Amino acid sequence: MRSTTGWQSLDPTGNTLTRVTFERRDLRPDDIAVRIDYCGVCHSDLHRIHGMLGEKDLVPGHEATGVVVATGPAVTGFAVGERVAIGTIVDSCGECAMCLAGQENYCYHRPTTTYGGTDRIDGTPTMGAYSREYVLREKFAFHLPDGLDPAAAAPLMCAGVSVWEPLRAAGAGPGSRVAVAGLGGLGHLAVKLAAALGAEVTVLSRTAAKEQDALSLGAAELLVTTDEAQVAAARAASTSSSTPSRPTTSSRRSSACSASTGPCASSETPCWPARGSGSSEPAARSSPPPAREGCGRPWRCWSSAPSTASRRTSRSCPPARSKPP
Ligand SMILES: [Zn+2]
Ligand SMILES: [Zn+2]
Repeated sequence: MRSTTGWQSLDPTGNTLTRVTFERRDLRPDDIAVRIDYCGVCHSDLHRIHGMLGEKDLVPGHEATGVVVATGPAVTGFAVGERVAIGTIVDSCGECAMCLAGQENYCYHRPTTTYGGTDRIDGTPTMGAYSREYVLREKFAFHLPDGLDPAAAAPLMCAGVSVWEPLRAAGAGPGSRVAVAGLGGLGHLAVKLAAALGAEVTVLSRTAAKEQDALSLGAAELLVTTDEAQVAAARAASTSSSTPSRPTTSSRRSSACSASTGPCASSETPCWPARGSGSSEPAARSSPPPAREGCGRPWRCWSSAPSTASRRTSRSCPPARSKPP
């Protein structure tokens, strides 16, 4: 076993974490060991150390960056000394339709979370990245590109991907307008990412207090949602606009095309494995999986990403499922 140190929640009534020494597993053939240098503080860390899911003795942390310090004999994608990033999941079944589609976060058999999960092989609880060292399968580690500040990049592994995926699924880019509700931890990343994609960004906030922050992050404007005149003016401008339909929240709807075999060739058309296609479990997802050939399962396509509401009401769409924290 590999001894390491971490910060553990031993008192669910408080915010205090205790420095502890604990054991990581010895490396399996496809494992890497990572020296954790930085880890973001996700709000779900707070929820869970306060017992939201009834857990005890958590070592939180699932937004980490670090350096590979050891590799198992079957590891091919990483070498000692390389910079890596670790996100919210560290394993999955690898066999279900979602895993085969590269959407392990929607694994039908639940992905193994970076902390508070259960290791699929030895059954031990997973301990998070508020620790000196983490051990995981290489498949679930990511190369951290040169030039990215490892401290600033760490929050991209949960907060960042949480807003990046819907932006990409909705096709945000030049010519589109994006509204971001709340300039919080995820919201400020959504503003930066949407602006970087070329979209026109409006921040929705209850007061104007964060207007300068919103503008400095790349938003075009801030709309005060408690100001009825501003909301009415925005609605009027939206309904009178002659601009072609854009992937705003209100305009997204599912317009399913007929089922086909294999994902659509067009990268602009998201594809989902259709319900009941080789599995009795729901095929819920929020963005297109990478194009693959030869799977033989029917796929359902939308001209744009369905909104949560339409997923819940459309007969052809499965109910929304919660994603891993
Ligand atoms: Zn998180
Ligand atoms: Zn799976």
